[in-house]
Amino acid sequence: SLKGKTALVTGSTSGIGLGIALSLARQGANIVLNGFGDAEGPKAEVSAAAPGIRVGYHGADMSKPAEIEAMMAYVAQEFGGCDILVNNAGIQHVAPVDQFPTERWDAIIAINLSSAFHTTRLALPGMKARGWGRVLNIASVHGLVASAEKSAYVAAKHGIVGLTKAVALETATTGVTVNAICPGWVLTPLVQKQVDARAAAAGLSNEEAKKQLLAEKQPSLQFTTPEQLGELAVFLCSEAASNVRGQSWALDGGWTAQ
Ligand code: NAD
Repeated sequence: SLKGKTALVTGSTSGIGLGIALSLARQGANIVLNGFGDAEGPKAEVSAAAPGIRVGYHGADMSKPAEIEAMMAYVAQEFGGCDILVNNAGIQHVAPVDQFPTERWDAIIAINLSSAFHTTRLALPGMKARGWGRVLNIASVHGLVASAEKSAYVAAKHGIVGLTKAVALETATTGVTVNAICPGWVLTPLVQKQVDARAAAAGLSNEEAKKQLLAEKQPSLQFTTPEQLGELAVFLCSEAASNVRGQSWALDGGWTAQ
């Protein structure tokens, strides 16, 4: 049980982050949500999944270090600190490198990589002082292998796999573990945009475009689900996983076995 612990999940108003927040809530953890768009719906969903827990929200823009600092101060003040940090906020942009908008490059590096540096450096002292902590970095199969036209995303995700290893070594003799999770295709708004682009470019139906997307990379031909990722996060937070350190765990339907 994670009763009495507080989990901060960045980018959790949607998709994978919300799935992980729901799984951690069901284990009894208090949850702090973060992300853009409507926050009341996700807050109500998490509260309903786990009566009795506390649910908070902070709207920090993860591309802005000062806002991340304000969010971490909010978690410390309102919840007594962050015991489980899930660095999940992320964006995608698809374009060949010589046509890649420099502003999109900077945004992807800031949100998908540097934000995890800031939350981690701010959360670690409290975790170490309390003798227990979990940092889960939501990387991607693109932290392990590449795809064309995703240079910024692949660079950021390889970067977060490296950050995971370095911080795992720095905390290796403590009760704090640091690991990454590497999903393959998950049908969230981030991926639906890529399905839509494929459907429009090739004149395909939504269903045909989804099938093609999977067939190209994911041998199981099934999407990974936010629920499956949530249950892996629960395992990595358990005592059984207390000596799993610096790993990047793929949940990718066989993508990186090829
Ligand atoms: P999503 O678009 O459904 O959710 C992204 C979340 O991040 C949203 O809550 C959004 O509001 C938030 N967000 C975006 N920019 C932000 C910012 N600047 N500050 C704060 N919050 C911000 O996407 P998702 O598919 O659930 O992706 C979540 C993570 O999982 C990302 O890091 C993504 O790279 C990773 N991932 C996704 C897939 C997939 O197939 N969907 C695969 C591998 C890895």
